[in-house]
Amino acid sequence: MEISEQNVKSKAHILCYSFAVQGHLNPILQFCKRLASKGLKVTLVSTISASSKLIKTQSCSPVDVELLDVDLRDIPKTSKECERDETQDYFEHYKTVVAPSLAAFIENQMSSNYPPKFLVYDSIIPWALDITKRFGIDGAPFFTQSWSCNTMYYQFYREKSKVNAFEDQAMVLLPSLPPLKINELPSFLNGSGTYPSLIDLCLNQFSNIEEVNWLFFSSFDKLEEEFGLANFLQPITWMATQLPVKAIGPTIPSKYLDNRLKNDKDYGLNLFKPNTETYLKWLDSKQPASVIYVSFGSLAALEKSQMEEIAWGLKNSNIFFLWVVRESESDKLPKNFSEETSEKGLVVSWCSQLEVLAHESVGCFMTHCGWNSTLEAVSVGVPMVAMPQWTDQPTNAKFIEDVWGVGMRARENGEGIVKREEIAVCIREVMEGERGKEIKRNSKKWKDLAKEAVDEGGSTDKNIQEFVAKLLYM
Ligand code: UDP
Repeated sequence: MEISEQNVKSKAHILCYSFAVQGHLNPILQFCKRLASKGLKVTLVSTISASSKLIKTQSCSPVDVELLDVDLRDIPKTSKECERDETQDYFEHYKTVVAPSLAAFIENQMSSNYPPKFLVYDSIIPWALDITKRFGIDGAPFFTQSWSCNTMYYQFYREKSKVNAFEDQAMVLLPSLPPLKINELPSFLNGSGTYPSLIDLCLNQFSNIEEVNWLFFSSFDKLEEEFGLANFLQPITWMATQLPVKAIGPTIPSKYLDNRLKNDKDYGLNLFKPNTETYLKWLDSKQPASVIYVSFGSLAALEKSQMEEIAWGLKNSNIFFLWVVRESESDKLPKNFSEETSEKGLVVSWCSQLEVLAHESVGCFMTHCGWNSTLEAVSVGVPMVAMPQWTDQPTNAKFIEDVWGVGMRARENGEGIVKREEIAVCIREVMEGERGKEIKRNSKKWKDLAKEAVDEGGSTDKNIQEFVAKLLYM
């Protein structure tokens, strides 16, 4: 059925809950905007961050944003050991504090003029489904990582004994995925033992999955279907035989894809403030495709020695660079680096990443391969130098290099450091080398396919349409 604002008689109200980090807020907010564009009333719910305020822009406007005022700072210590337990303590505390607050919020909404019909919740809080059921409304998880990674988590969830079972194997073979080396698995599954409590977080996303009728994720069908590998049932196809999965991405502002949503020019909720004027002016002064943009996202904390290698790698490449170094990372830069390289580079504490990636001066993106950054580069067709750090990033890097052919992975030495020579070689190869030519051709192909997916009648558009139609007649 074709849905338009005209034939939606009364607005159905839907709530979407996001964990308050940039990499979750961005895709969930974009999904909200797409739902609002189909005539739904949409409220995005998150929490107020203790450390930073959310800066809201005009782009949010079709979506109501409500922030639960909860105190997530005083985490009781239930265990004394390592980082693992701190993370576990945090998520236990998060549930204790957020669950009652979210329940109170929904209860309040139920007696409003627009009682909500549905809750889309961040897949890392599967317990949100129990809350909605209490109010007689249905829910569905939203996954913020690639479907290939989630396929792995699902398979491990079904067979927990597989975790850490791969240490001795050179290659890992899993249904629907290309053969993967150990260091191409999500870091929580590669046996390295870092953050073991986060394994539970990833696997438990599937703990109550048989109770839901939809699983949304931020990707598009072709991106995870067309591996070109004979005899492999691809992740989306394979998962669709197991679960009701729906790809609704790429979840990036419409301006950079189909341009069908008015005013959807940026994400609209920022945890950091960009200094737009400085870097846009700087980029404007450069030749087309002459700059490498470098960013490791909103969370990654690099070793000081790694930051130094990146700094000298950029300098040695002799290519113009724009580097995002968050304030919390800035003391890891070599002394006087910004001053010494001011002819060639600019270091900023945050930027509007999509605006930068889409700028004609940018020819390459050196990235930690967070899923949003990966999708953004794919969607605007910017070739990548991949420098994954942890979680899903090594797997995303594998796909960037070997499956979609849109970048090159800069490889670590035996001590786990990517050296300056390797960085400079990869940058030059992607920007100016023979391999770069092929990478640019592939980037253009994937950019077109990303647009096609969200455009009218594309796979993503159809999936969203189908969900909205069901919701209207629930
Ligand atoms: N981002 C941004 N400005 C920056 C760096 C990052 O707007 O200077 C945005 C980026 O566009 C992406 C998000 O922050 O949407 C980071 O998400 P990702 O999944 O790539 O990585 P994470 O921060 O979760 O590790």
